[in-house]
Amino acid sequence: LINSAFNTIALPHYLVVLLCLLCQTTFATPAELQGVQVQGNAENTRLVLELDRQVKYTYFQLANPQRLVFDLADTRVPEQFQLVQGATSVVHSVRYARRSEDTLRVVFDLKTRRYPEVLVPTTAQPHQLIIQLHKNKELSLNNPQANPLPTPRTWVVALDPGHGGQDPGAIGKVHGTLEKQVTLQIARRLQQALSARQNIKVILTRQNDTYVKLRQRIATARQHQADLFVSIHADAFHDHRVQGASVFVLSDKGASSEAARWLANKENQADLLGGVSLEDKEDILASVLLDMSQSAALGNSLSAADHVFQALQTVGRVHGKRVQQAAFIVLKSPDIPSLLIETGFISNPTEEQRLRDPSYQTKLAHAIAQGIFSYFDNTAPADEPAVSQAGQSSGS
Ligand SMILES: [Zn+2]
Repeated sequence: LINSAFNTIALPHYLVVLLCLLCQTTFATPAELQGVQVQGNAENTRLVLELDRQVKYTYFQLANPQRLVFDLADTRVPEQFQLVQGATSVVHSVRYARRSEDTLRVVFDLKTRRYPEVLVPTTAQPHQLIIQLHKNKELSLNNPQANPLPTPRTWVVALDPGHGGQDPGAIGKVHGTLEKQVTLQIARRLQQALSARQNIKVILTRQNDTYVKLRQRIATARQHQADLFVSIHADAFHDHRVQGASVFVLSDKGASSEAARWLANKENQADLLGGVSLEDKEDILASVLLDMSQSAALGNSLSAADHVFQALQTVGRVHGKRVQQAAFIVLKSPDIPSLLIETGFISNPTEEQRLRDPSYQTKLAHAIAQGIFSYFDNTAPADEPAVSQAGQSSGS
């Protein structure tokens, strides 16, 4: 789809850039190393590689003479390259050369042995590769001052307790348990479990027993710029023997028809795609943009759902072998990864009993939280450098 779109539509320059940002594809042109700095003094030395975007890299050390070597993948040096040097008490000189067709090698000649530690860049310097040089290995492990941790990114999770108000959802046969109550209780417990991490902010699409329209639930998530939308439900089935939790993401069919719906609704277009209005763009281009945004979200939805599905298997039975896909309306945000958890079958007497049990609800909430944590831990957000994840140390 991406390629054919580029071939058939003459895209304005800024839109090509926008397309790349949206789908997070690799750039056609190599990254640029814009500067190298040596900061600090002999006690506390930092090397800073300034890049115009995040790159993959490897590094290693050589002795006699002491050298620290960085290989930057798919990177080049621009013509007006600035090589700024500071602390020469540790770093003798800095050199660079093209190592292969697309790899740039940067060599720091050291006067004395140092132990490098690549720091995770802050969002303020998203594309800097910062290397702290330690006098000895232990220092880097024992001295937190030497390695100030960056402020972690805040993730926003929108929890959506299914049903509410005049819509009770499924009703249990034995105890008359209402799905709308169970979903709100589990969502609250999940909110608490997620709050174990300081960098996770949780919002609820409904706080009490009120009816909230499905579209309104999506709108609330978007208003808070949610990174993940999790809808909580409890199934019912005519066969009361059926039991187990399941996790859903949007089906392709639902996604494509929904894309058309979004496009048809001019009112929604302004707040789609991070504030980029599609109004004045050609219809076909708008649909390409929306498709890309949606398929990126769907990929992340699947990944998040997988993590949650696996975590749920630690609590009890799951229904089905894998994450399932369906065209639920609440999953139809084109830009927010979304999943729907059926926590169990309220139509099954045993499960109805479990779902109303506070300790089971807590167990369930903790498992879902673990799944969400592991999804976040394995996901590099679009607005954050993937340098630390991409880099690999190959000896020190
Ligand atoms: Zn439901």
